[in-house]
Amino acid sequence: MIDITSYIYSLKLKWIKKCILNDSSKCFKLMSVLFDVNKMLNFGKKFCEIICQKMSNTFWKDVINAYMLYIDRFCIDNVNQFMHMPLFYNHNFVNGNYVFIHTLYNKGFRCVKDVFDANGNLYSLLEIEKIHHKWLLQYENVSINWKNVYSCVFKCTKDSYIQWLQLRVLHRILPTNSLLYKMKVVENDNCSFCECCKETLLHLFWDCNKIQPVLQDMLQKLNTNDSSIVINSMYVLLGSGNNKFKFDILLLEYKKFIFLCKRKKCVPTVIGFRNSLQLAWNIF
Ligand SMILES: [Zn+2]
Repeated sequence: MIDITSYIYSLKLKWIKKCILNDSSKCFKLMSVLFDVNKMLNFGKKFCEIICQKMSNTFWKDVINAYMLYIDRFCIDNVNQFMHMPLFYNHNFVNGNYVFIHTLYNKGFRCVKDVFDANGNLYSLLEIEKIHHKWLLQYENVSINWKNVYSCVFKCTKDSYIQWLQLRVLHRILPTNSLLYKMKVVENDNCSFCECCKETLLHLFWDCNKIQPVLQDMLQKLNTNDSSIVINSMYVLLGSGNNKFKFDILLLEYKKFIFLCKRKKCVPTVIGFRNSLQLAWNIF
């Protein structure tokens, strides 16, 4: 027998799905005027309750209520699920109240797992600052707009794999062989592609001679489109930090492609990258 109530709730939830899948649709634009959709999707149930309190539009109020019921259906019964829970506005924390730290949000912290390092230890605020210092050691005398750097990936794409990857690049905890070797997961820190240099973030995405055909092809295309752009390794790793999103999304797709090749243990090719873009953007 069909449960009519559940069916009606699922129809209401489809409005959210429809908007997320097409963020240029009129529906998404209307939703964005009424409340911050990205925050609603990244935050916990408390944020939805606050939206509902302020909302006068009964249709969207119903949709958000259905979304809250959907959140309530999640059962957290293992550590992995707990780690992927929203960090902010989560009604399961602090006796039904919620936590929101603007500084951490601007630095890209979204899930519980974001406050832990690669070894599973909780970051202290000092350590978060130190992460910035490590980048500054690499790029001396460069002014970096960290707020833009951390928020860029969320403005550029809804691809959760790219968001996962870029946050790990920024926190310097992407599992390169250099990091995996330190954690005693692999036997050496050699690059997965050239097998002769240490596989650091810089080497994997910029220096490695095996990725040069893909990198140079991409840089050439960017220069053809806008000759004023000078792309360096900092731009590739951290993003523009100046809201030039049309180029940032390409660099994010590039990192995703290179990292997937590393995981599959196959050397990246220009054709492979073009096919990957074709799949992602449905172009050509
Ligand atoms: Zn290499």
